[in-house]
Amino acid sequence: MDYKIDTNCVQAGYTPKTGEPRVLPIVQSTTFKYDTSEDMGKLFDLEASGYFYTRLANPTCDSVAAKLCALEGGSAAMLLSSGQAANFFAVFNLASAGDHVVASAALYGGTFNLFSVTMKRMGIEFTFVDPDCTEEELSAAFRPNTKALFGETIANPALAVLDLEMFARVAHAHGVPLIIDNTFPTPVGCRPIEWGADIVTHSTTKYLDGHATSVGGAIVDSGKFDWMAHADKFPGLTTPDESYHGIVYAEKFGQGGAFITKCVAQLMRDFGSSPSAFNAFLLNLGMETLHVRMPKHCANAQAVAEFLQAHEKVAWVQYCGLPGDKYYERGKKYLPNGSCGVLSFGVKGGRAAAETFMKRLKLAAIVTHVADARTCILHPASSTHRQMSDEELLACGVAPDLMRLSVGIEDVEDIIADIRGALEGI
Ligand SMILES: *Cc1c(COP(=O)(O)O)cnc(C)c1O
Repeated sequence: MDYKIDTNCVQAGYTPKTGEPRVLPIVQSTTFKYDTSEDMGKLFDLEASGYFYTRLANPTCDSVAAKLCALEGGSAAMLLSSGQAANFFAVFNLASAGDHVVASAALYGGTFNLFSVTMKRMGIEFTFVDPDCTEEELSAAFRPNTKALFGETIANPALAVLDLEMFARVAHAHGVPLIIDNTFPTPVGCRPIEWGADIVTHSTTKYLDGHATSVGGAIVDSGKFDWMAHADKFPGLTTPDESYHGIVYAEKFGQGGAFITKCVAQLMRDFGSSPSAFNAFLLNLGMETLHVRMPKHCANAQAVAEFLQAHEKVAWVQYCGLPGDKYYERGKKYLPNGSCGVLSFGVKGGRAAAETFMKRLKLAAIVTHVADARTCILHPASSTHRQMSDEELLACGVAPDLMRLSVGIEDVEDIIADIRGALEGI
């Protein structure tokens, strides 16, 4: 049955048979029992599908991955222990030492560090491009050894909205997949695969969980990238894997299964960034209300953005729902039902005024988090992004005075009253 997204949020991924638990069971077991060694051997050789060790796969986690796969419109998906692990695995599944990747410069700070420092030490070089670059500029960043193009639908915290269609067109013209981190809009707000993305990643820690209970990540494959048509670029998918008796992933698991199977069989096996079944259970509970929560986050954020824009002590507001915002038109195209609950702004009086403002807030909490049910706020330059120089901050679209406000799903009048009171103290 082809259900609509609201139904899939509630029901996809787990369908109990008669007499089985109505609610997704937590399979809290590291191991699985088999009658014969031959049965288990088939699993080890990827000749049969099933479970043998939770580092590689677990039924609870797989059900939740299947739900996200349905929401994004993908062919296969996997959960990971964090969004960082998801972005690392998604890129490292394609690129090895000596390879090159093009990425938007407007990225989550952790991802920027992963790419520019840690993966660079592994011999993978990244070129960062302006998220608003032209098609020609983007194309010029590619090299013969480029293996992927990477970007965020809505950048955290820069809130730049990516031109997904253009990025997909350029990636495909160079014979590589487009990887999109879709954490902020969630599939309720945008499904990047419909705009040409090949691989979608998530920090499920944010809206998908929605309650700030569990750090987690996910990768969804669209199944649309033809690895065999670019076989020389992606030998890991198109030539025999000696660690699995010479299996060729793209042949054995097809276009829809190769990427995720390789990612689990090699990277999860070797790096072990596995989510816990219990965290997956909590993530599933969150996703059951995703379609109810996201419109409320968007409506509240829109009202708060309009309030801030009209306030005399506010220097600037960035939210793509505001007419006149740099990303208003792109937002209308890619996020027609609203972007997310996160907006950024600065107050008149710079850093000192911002600190006074933050101190006076009562309802909005200062936390290193965004995108959960509770309103929260952060000053990236003095917290999450403090390892970056001012030049690097500006290059990824984070002004030193930027405050990032994650609007929750409380009553919007209470949220606005809290902000109004804090502004009065400046
Ligand atoms: C938070 C975040 C990440 C990292 O995810 P973790 O779950 O914290 O590891 C990656 N990308 C984006 C866009 C994020 O917001």
